[in-house]
Amino acid sequence: MTTTAAPLLQVRNLRKHYIWPKRWLRPAKPAIQAVDGVSFSVARGETLSLVGESGCGKTTTAKSVMRLVEPTSGSVELEGEELLTLSSNEMRLRRRQLQIIFQDPYASLNPRLTAGDIVAEPLRNFGMGAAAERRERVQWLFSRVGLRPEAAKKFPHEFSGGQRQRLGIARALALALNPKLIVCDEPVSALDVSVQAQVVNLLMDLQAELGIAYLFVAHDLAVVRHISHRVAVMYLGHIVEIADRDTLFSAPRHPYTEILLSAVPVPNPRTPARRMLLQGDPPSPANPPSGCRFHTRCPMAQAVCKEKTPELSERPSSSSGGHWVACHFR
Ligand code: SF4
Repeated sequence: MTTTAAPLLQVRNLRKHYIWPKRWLRPAKPAIQAVDGVSFSVARGETLSLVGESGCGKTTTAKSVMRLVEPTSGSVELEGEELLTLSSNEMRLRRRQLQIIFQDPYASLNPRLTAGDIVAEPLRNFGMGAAAERRERVQWLFSRVGLRPEAAKKFPHEFSGGQRQRLGIARALALALNPKLIVCDEPVSALDVSVQAQVVNLLMDLQAELGIAYLFVAHDLAVVRHISHRVAVMYLGHIVEIADRDTLFSAPRHPYTEILLSAVPVPNPRTPARRMLLQGDPPSPANPPSGCRFHTRCPMAQAVCKEKTPELSERPSSSSGGHWVACHFR
């Protein structure tokens, strides 16, 4: 599926299967199908969110795009260039345009480096500028993400969670004045609610200013509703629905999306809650159900759902970029 603008990122049929290593006299175990045939695109300056339960494959998809995990098969094109066939050195150079912000800012920052050195490190690694130029750029980045200049001398443990995530964003912006795409892997889920809003608003301001696209992985649907242009819903390694944010939140079609969204709190107390419960646990990705992977938990499942896998196909809709659903009946 594509948006109307030429996509910045085009992912086709992406798979990541984890194969168990062979052991002497031990029967082979089935591969874990963490991501199984995922396709989507991200336009320039767009935020596409990936949502779904834990274990649905959203983080593995995001890391596969970055090649932080090596996909089993498929295609990932950035501005028309295939990333999966690049050598590690070529990929390293592309990372100037393709950055990631991690969920746990503390774990992703070197505790022995000062904040200034952390942000300057990628600049040094790529041999960019003299020491004075790098210091200047670090100061500019600090001011851009709302950190005071003197914070450059502090170590990560001296910052609050929100400040550490600002530091992570400054590092992601360090290499390029205009990074094309930033993968945000649950960037605010470890933060307090008030700090979450500050960091999300910072990301949106930077997008408006620099035209960055975000591939945004999150489980907090209120945050997703605030930041996204489009949303892709994942279940057990598949995308089951994609639409623009307003269409998806106001008129979801896939039964799984309906149940997922029914858990979002309604701000108006006069609006009756329509909470629907998801039955049972997700099946194992090592042994996914036949046909539609959701059929073991779907309240609408019928006989055909066990046998035939529904294709992700476009439905009539006014949603920009189209409304795509994988269900035999919706
Ligand atoms: Fe439910 Fe069948 Fe649709 Fe799958 S294809 S979501 S099981 S109704």
